[in-house]
Amino acid sequence: MTDTSQQFASDNYSGICPEAWEAMAQANQGHQRAYGDDEWTARAADHFRHLFDTDCDVFFAFNGTAANSLALSALCQSYHSVICSETAHVETDECGAPEFFSNGSKLLTAHTEQGKLTPASIREIALKRKDIHYPKPRVVTLTQATEVGTVYRPEEIQAISQTCDELGLNLHMDGARFSNACAFLGCSPAELTWKAGVDVLCFGGTKNGMAVGEAILFFNRDLAEDFDYRCKQAGQLASKMRYLSAPWVGLLQNDAWMRYATHANRCAQLLADLVKDVPGVSLMFPVEANGVFLQMSEPALAALTARGWRFYTFIGAGGARFMCSWDTEEARVRELAAAIREVMAG
Ligand SMILES: *Cc1c(COP(=O)(O)O)cnc(C)c1O
Repeated sequence: MTDTSQQFASDNYSGICPEAWEAMAQANQGHQRAYGDDEWTARAADHFRHLFDTDCDVFFAFNGTAANSLALSALCQSYHSVICSETAHVETDECGAPEFFSNGSKLLTAHTEQGKLTPASIREIALKRKDIHYPKPRVVTLTQATEVGTVYRPEEIQAISQTCDELGLNLHMDGARFSNACAFLGCSPAELTWKAGVDVLCFGGTKNGMAVGEAILFFNRDLAEDFDYRCKQAGQLASKMRYLSAPWVGLLQNDAWMRYATHANRCAQLLADLVKDVPGVSLMFPVEANGVFLQMSEPALAALTARGWRFYTFIGAGGARFMCSWDTEEARVRELAAAIREVMAG
């Protein structure tokens, strides 16, 4: 038998939530028009416009790499550059897709504290050179929640957006864990995006309980010109689109997206609370979303792995990332915390 115990390596280890599954089953009746001209896709897009309280343009892609890369390529010419954090997914985990789909737009990375760009760090990069030999800065991309589990406050996004306006930059948000950020802050999705100056949001569905799928929301609709062609050319236009869009209806109606994000965040808080007094263990970043980053000794991490626990260790020496999901069980969090306590005791 395969071991299907809950793990904490990534929030995409989890399966599909009942609401998304049920919506897929409902969409699986009879024939519907293809390539997004179906009722489910129209309903999902309307749910987004209602949730964000604005008339945005909505597109669907299979995954976050495609959503981010295509969105960024819509905001850039090939000679432009994109300012991002040195820890940004677009820089470290997309295999050069943003550069590929934009035909060469360069990512310019900023050193960040706790995964967050600031007006000063953006200004430094954008104003470093103004000559023709430097790829012209055109976009800033933020990750919300960040790759290290922290969350930008609305004021921080507004300040960044103001800097973008001054410098003539567009503002993109990688919202693979946008739900978790909303749940942490208790802000409306609008306050964290277009009201704070975000032009385009990639809203993650996969880590929030869907099988596959991210939505791309253009609040600045001029930037969405021909975006449907871009998606098609990149192989991201699903012919049976209803199976990509219906799960969004399931997740967005009755606020399942928010309930699950709140749950995942609460599990992360619980884990942090349970291990914070363990000698030799320290939190590397404040726990704001659904991730807990722990500094622990290498032998302890090896012992944890030997006991069958899965987690990522790509952030610095001795650091480990534990992610909670929409379906993480409290008892499993307590088991993990107990295991961490035991391996640290040697
Ligand atoms: C998971 C994730 C994505 C999307 O990754 P895919 O594997 O391409 O779906 C994008 N950004 C961040 C910050 C992520 O954690």
